[in-house]
Amino acid sequence: MKIFILKLNELECIDERLLDNVLTELSEYLGIRFECIPKKFQLPNNTYNKTRMQYDANEILNYIRRTIDTKGNKIIATICDDIYVEGTNFIFGLAEINGNYCILSLKRLRNEDLKIFKERIFKEMLHELGHCFGLRHCSNDCAMKFSNSIFEVDMKNKYLCEKCFRYIKLKLENLKKKI
Ligand SMILES: [Zn+2]
Ligand SMILES: [Zn+2]
Repeated sequence: MKIFILKLNELECIDERLLDNVLTELSEYLGIRFECIPKKFQLPNNTYNKTRMQYDANEILNYIRRTIDTKGNKIIATICDDIYVEGTNFIFGLAEINGNYCILSLKRLRNEDLKIFKERIFKEMLHELGHCFGLRHCSNDCAMKFSNSIFEVDMKNKYLCEKCFRYIKLKLENLKKKI
């Protein structure tokens, strides 16, 4: 059982070492291995909405599902461009609940202060992966709390609350027995 990292388009907004730092930290926190897919994926035109000048997150997930078989592992796609789903101005990320595919946009997480940028990526990656492991939004001070704005991202806990952490650990143990 591992988590694949997929880099979409140019991913020019982040230094590779910075992303690696976050992945190492997440890997230690969750006790799971991360593996970067070395190939860069250029998204097809149908995932981009020219009028909105944003990518359609559902279309991206459809594309990844068609392109990559995770063989039961989880995959998180990262992109520097802005993403949305119908009915929103933008979203930070999108995940299949209890599924294998999720996406995180770094666009609105960026900050000149790299410590802040790193912490935001950590939280939101944990959040989207949490959904993939079956977690829903949580009302505790927890990374699974829903955030509508970057302010709310900064305000919430970097880590999971005890309840969510216990849930995800149990889920991981069970998954590790299968793959
Ligand atoms: Zn969420
Ligand atoms: Zn929680």
